[in-house]
Amino acid sequence: MSSFKSPRGVRDILPPETARWRALESQFAGVCERAGYGELVSPMFEDAGVFARLGEDTAVVSKEMYDFFDKKGRRMALRPELTASAARAFIEHHPEVPWKVWYSGPQFRYEQPQAGRYRQFMQVGIELFGVDDPHSDVEVIALGWEFLRSLGLQDMTLLVNTLGDSESRSAYAGVLGDYLAESELSEASVETALKNPLRVLDSKREQDQQVIAGAPSCLDHLTSEAADRFAAVRSGLDALGISYEVSPRLVRGLDYYTHTAFEYVSNSLTSAQNALGGGGRYDGLIEALGGTSTAGIGFALGADRILLACDTEETFLLSETLLDVFIVDITDGQAALTLSQELRSAGISADRAWGSRSLKAQMKAANRSNARFALIVGTDEQASGTVSVKDLETSQQTQISQDAIVEHLQSRLKQL
Ligand code: AMP
Repeated sequence: MSSFKSPRGVRDILPPETARWRALESQFAGVCERAGYGELVSPMFEDAGVFARLGEDTAVVSKEMYDFFDKKGRRMALRPELTASAARAFIEHHPEVPWKVWYSGPQFRYEQPQAGRYRQFMQVGIELFGVDDPHSDVEVIALGWEFLRSLGLQDMTLLVNTLGDSESRSAYAGVLGDYLAESELSEASVETALKNPLRVLDSKREQDQQVIAGAPSCLDHLTSEAADRFAAVRSGLDALGISYEVSPRLVRGLDYYTHTAFEYVSNSLTSAQNALGGGGRYDGLIEALGGTSTAGIGFALGADRILLACDTEETFLLSETLLDVFIVDITDGQAALTLSQELRSAGISADRAWGSRSLKAQMKAANRSNARFALIVGTDEQASGTVSVKDLETSQQTQISQDAIVEHLQSRLKQL
């Protein structure tokens, strides 16, 4: 019989590493909830039309969507990102604004797998609907930055840019389009330039890089309102002491993006995988999805990449001790059965050995488990109603009455 493997581009995350993923999510939840964002849980698949609005000519929609027809012949898609789903939910439930939500979960894109690029990957993010105050841009950018810093990441750069309002944007698109028409672009980008010149700036193709580097800057084509707004965002970041680089080539190619765009880059990862996340203001999105015009801004961060950056910066690593206690019972196994239950109900994490093995074999298992203490029950302990508590770090051992064991462990664990 042939055995199965996980599909190409997706992977299993096994314990104990999973604990790190949960810790990342809970850290993110804490940062968001302290700023008044509540969790949004939306479906993993939607009517494919929800995502089609991201732009039929974007790679995410045209080539990378996991779409399928359901049993009634409706075209569905696994979500490639969460902003469109959040906007769909906003229109469907018309919550009071400002609507501040955070989310976390897997996204699906049929991409070419490589280091840091998967077909199922995990994102955390926020969206803020119904506010267009420049300080709301600052709040959103700062929240992502502070979250990444709270993981201990230091070697990062924050890139910010503005596309301005729709007037600035279309003036720039015209100038850029003319410039690109005269340039030696890759074949694929020539086609993109005809549909949406801004999207060419997102090209990672080698042949396009020189053209992109010499492209006119969007900052030279801002209306004075748009320039003032960008200045207000920058001075808000300055007031919070968050340093950033203005990067005029940083654009979001989708038509409903206006004003602020930003990206968090890790300097400790190679350029193919160094984007930890990014976001921008999308004041045209709700309307594009059929709702009434509503301002919006948000970001999405890639957890897979964030953890890679944590590995290289040696921060937010797995804590070594996961278990409080490992029970070694070399009598008849009754003590292991009842003690593990008693300790767990008292909030002490406890595991045990199986199979009535020798003291030596069970102590080996205790050491491997990374527990803080081993509780040993041998014939002596059984006869005297006691348990030996061995500190697995210092090897010190004390004998405690079984009745007092919970209290004893609680006080010792508290002292750690
Ligand atoms: P995007 O939704 O394309 O703006 O992506 C936001 C972030 O999600 C990126 O900066 C990456 O950190 C992460 N990301 C996007 N695509 C992938 C992928 N295929 N595999 C792993 N992470 C990804």
